[in-house]
Amino acid sequence: MNEYRYLIVGGGMTGHAAAAAIRGLDPAGSLGMIGEEPVPPYARPALSEGPWAEADQRRFFLPALQGLVHHTGRRAVSLDPAGREVVDDLGERYRYERLLLATGGAPRRLEIGGDRVIHLRTMADYERLRGHGGHCALVVGGGYVGTELAASLAAEGRDVTMAFPEPSLGANRWPGGLSEHVTRDFEAHGVRLLRGHAVARVEAFGDRGDRVLVRTSGGAEVLADLVVAGLGTRPQTALAEAAGLAVSDGVEVDEGLRTSAPDVWAAGDVARVWSPALGERIRLEHAENALAMGREAGRAMAGEPVRWSQLPSWGASFFGAAYQAVGKIDARMETVEAWRRPYHEGVVYYLEHGRVKGVLLWGLAGRLEAARELIRRQRPVGAADLQGALER
Ligand SMILES: Cc1cc2nc3c(=O)[nH]c(=O)nc-3n(C[C@H](O)[C@H](O)[C@H](O)COP(=O)(O)OP(=O)(O)OC[C@H]3O[C@@H](n4cnc5c(N)ncnc54)[C@H](O)[C@@H]3O)c2cc1C
Repeated sequence: MNEYRYLIVGGGMTGHAAAAAIRGLDPAGSLGMIGEEPVPPYARPALSEGPWAEADQRRFFLPALQGLVHHTGRRAVSLDPAGREVVDDLGERYRYERLLLATGGAPRRLEIGGDRVIHLRTMADYERLRGHGGHCALVVGGGYVGTELAASLAAEGRDVTMAFPEPSLGANRWPGGLSEHVTRDFEAHGVRLLRGHAVARVEAFGDRGDRVLVRTSGGAEVLADLVVAGLGTRPQTALAEAAGLAVSDGVEVDEGLRTSAPDVWAAGDVARVWSPALGERIRLEHAENALAMGREAGRAMAGEPVRWSQLPSWGASFFGAAYQAVGKIDARMETVEAWRRPYHEGVVYYLEHGRVKGVLLWGLAGRLEAARELIRRQRPVGAADLQGALER
């Protein structure tokens, strides 16, 4: 039987940030982490960034923490909140005083293609991708991971095709003009785009079966050496759900990041929390959120008062373009665009009921705090008020 004052389930960025915060406040309390992956915590966003050829995975790992006991390669399979006990897939038991669920997300999978498709989420997926010398790559999915991955594969000189069901890249998130501009930019950089195509069939091809023939819903055929999918994730809530914790789209937590069970907290991609600035419960799947929520949950577990009110940002870069976003970003919302240089430098504001709920900063650095302030203020604004507010 393992006994810990603090136990963390999930060895990702959230779990690591929580462990670091606990260590800072309670240097002596026993601290354990159960992580399904066979490696200690690492920075997951690095997995979609090339170049793969000379990458040294040691640079991904997060700093080791004094006295943190890692139980790597173990999956927690049951939680008994009343008995304060967790059991892993090898039957080992862990008693805790305070528990954090930081189980993150599992990739949405293509229902076809089996092992021929790499779903990029873990270091093991990354190693598979890196070890693949194939020149022709098909990237499935035009979201966050898909776009960054396609751009870095193309920048490495690979022949890249992207297939995605939307009419253009970012169509669900950005205004039409921007979305079209980015889409044309990808094409200008040699990425072949299959807009409005879903993958319908995946078959082995060639004498050795080492190539893949993909047919799409739109009738296209793509012959590729490798197929990589970035289709988003689902929160890994099974453990919490089976233990009777309140779960919806994620594990529900209060403003102190506590779940519905005593002395059990949740944070990161798996947690759904009230955002005072946005006036709704949200769940983010981004690194800054993982680090901030992990840190706050760790502080709370170590006895500090915590009241979650942060607005974490996220961003991406491809082919020299870069953006940062904060708040609620959804193309179905009312948007106001303010460009200093159209589609190169400017701001898109996302409004609900005449108030700014989200800000997309395109090619502009150093404005995140002002963007957060605008969202927090919740003053009624019109399109004219927003021109010049952040992009000058
Ligand atoms: C390829 C890629 C690129 C990304 N790029 C960016 C980016 O550029 N910017 C950005 O902001 N975000 C990015 N993200 C998202 C970001 O990495 C995540 O938001 C962040 O890693 C979430 O951290 P987490 O610790 O909450 O969850 P996870 O990273 O999912 O970690 C959870 C860990 O818990 C383990 N686990 C799950 N269930 C159990 C269990 N029952 N027992 C034991 N262990 C368990 C999992 O195996 C995993 O190791 C990217 C993600 C991917 C996959």
